[in-house]
Amino acid sequence: MSSLEPSRRDTRLDPYIDQYADRTGSMTVSAVRALFAVANRPEVVSLAGGMPNIADLPLADLGASFDQLIQTKGVQAMQYGSGQGELFMREKIVEVMAEEAITANPDDVVITCGSQQALDLVTRIFIDPGDVILAEAPSYVGAMGTFNAYQAQIHHVEMDEDGLLPDALRQAVVALRAAGKAVKFLYTIPNFNNPTGITQPLERRREVLAVARELGVLVVEDNPYGLLTIEGEPIDAMRSMDPEVIYLGSFSKTFAPGFRVGWVLAPHAVRERLTIAQEAAVLSPPVFSQFAIANYLDNFDWRGQIATFRSMYQARRDAMLDGLSAHMPTGTTWTSPNGGFFVWVTLPEGLDSQALLPRAVNERVAYVPGTAFYADGFGSRNMRLSYCFPTPERIYEGTRRLGKAIADELEM
Ligand code: PMP
Repeated sequence: MSSLEPSRRDTRLDPYIDQYADRTGSMTVSAVRALFAVANRPEVVSLAGGMPNIADLPLADLGASFDQLIQTKGVQAMQYGSGQGELFMREKIVEVMAEEAITANPDDVVITCGSQQALDLVTRIFIDPGDVILAEAPSYVGAMGTFNAYQAQIHHVEMDEDGLLPDALRQAVVALRAAGKAVKFLYTIPNFNNPTGITQPLERRREVLAVARELGVLVVEDNPYGLLTIEGEPIDAMRSMDPEVIYLGSFSKTFAPGFRVGWVLAPHAVRERLTIAQEAAVLSPPVFSQFAIANYLDNFDWRGQIATFRSMYQARRDAMLDGLSAHMPTGTTWTSPNGGFFVWVTLPEGLDSQALLPRAVNERVAYVPGTAFYADGFGSRNMRLSYCFPTPERIYEGTRRLGKAIADELEM
């Protein structure tokens, strides 16, 4: 991740240097974006990106149904809409959330441009510069980009194989408050955390919520992957156990990301502020996308489509785990996710995933170095591998190439 900071000082490169807001100083170029140019070369197996694999969507049928939509409701669907999002869409979202045991009122849902914009709105209404956001160690790089843009201080909370540690959460909040810090919320990804793939079991969710409640810390639950559980049924959302939780959802992984439709479910007063912020940001979230998605949910077997996605990702996850078992040198460890897109690898002692990257690219495989997912420089022995996009055969081959790069580095 390269900070914009050095270029702020270099007036030869940027004539506007004295005019930017202070907050741009804490904005960073995403490590994932910087990797795209290399990772997209056809000979490279990219285990770097997190693009959902949507090739199996019934495109011809979708085309016919969108055609019908334009014929019958085009004028309304292409008009401005409600700042909070269309009521029919919010009603559908309540149905989708019921799959993870959430009961909610459509009135408490705000539609956003993907859950990425939900993160922006939540941060916008809660964060003043210097306020603390607690996040798992490690956490989603895109969320941290948003938090940085609002000059939040990100404080990581330790995880184990069952996710966030409740005692570590308690200690962090107590210590930060003793130091005079305003702890504004806990940001957590309880299902198939991006980047680790780790899931909090039900009991751990209860424990985390109990600590948060006791200490008066707001919880923001980000759950774009929950319905992509591979074995068994999705675990009940934290929001289903506590109506004070602010919940972020998305159609990006259960349908398609290009529509840019996500949502926030929030307690009434928060929802009101979010709606005002949303009106200021985009007037109304994409109306045509909401019509298109509601039309899809009404007329297609969306639960069947999610089942198709689940088995497609299962084959990819299995190829990755088989490949890692077959090819990783001794001393390398990794997580075994039950859904989502990511496996988190820990390299043998003494190796650095950033330093290894040129060697890996030389072997024609790409990944995201672990430091991208920490605000504080940790993660140098880690890498995130994603299994969502390439074919199972390519994923397996990718792990072979990666194993060779690591083994060669160990011999140095
Ligand atoms: N949260 C997490 C944990 C994610 O992995 C992503 C996408 N990579 C998002 C939010 C944003 O997704 P979208 O804006 O497409 O809903």
